[in-house]
Amino acid sequence: MEKEKQTLENLLETIKQFNQDRDWDQFHNPKDLAIGMVTESAELLDLFRFVSADKLEALMADKQEAIEEEVMDILYFVLRFAQMNHINIYEAFERKMAKNEKKYPVESVRGKHHKYTEYKK
Ligand SMILES: [Mg+2]
Repeated sequence: MEKEKQTLENLLETIKQFNQDRDWDQFHNPKDLAIGMVTESAELLDLFRFVSADKLEALMADKQEAIEEEVMDILYFVLRFAQMNHINIYEAFERKMAKNEKKYPVESVRGKHHKYTEYKK
């Protein structure tokens, strides 16, 4: 039987159950979850430390599993933060992307990577 596709709701339910089983809700205040996002991001960055741009492709292949795990650690904390703080991910994402559309109009930024403040000049 083909494995059922994961949805955001499945991921959130898995995370909720994982934490309920361990009685960890008590530790998941906004501060510590935000710290979790940053420390896991630092763990991802650490994999790239001292790696020159021309070696990135090889690194991505060599450390695929480790990179994947750190990205999932970040995702876990992002989802957990949203879950514990009543953030509707779908609605919040839509609102933020609508802001980004205004902040980065295609006609101004296409093919450019500067910060939005650079486009206002
Ligand atoms: Mg990690």
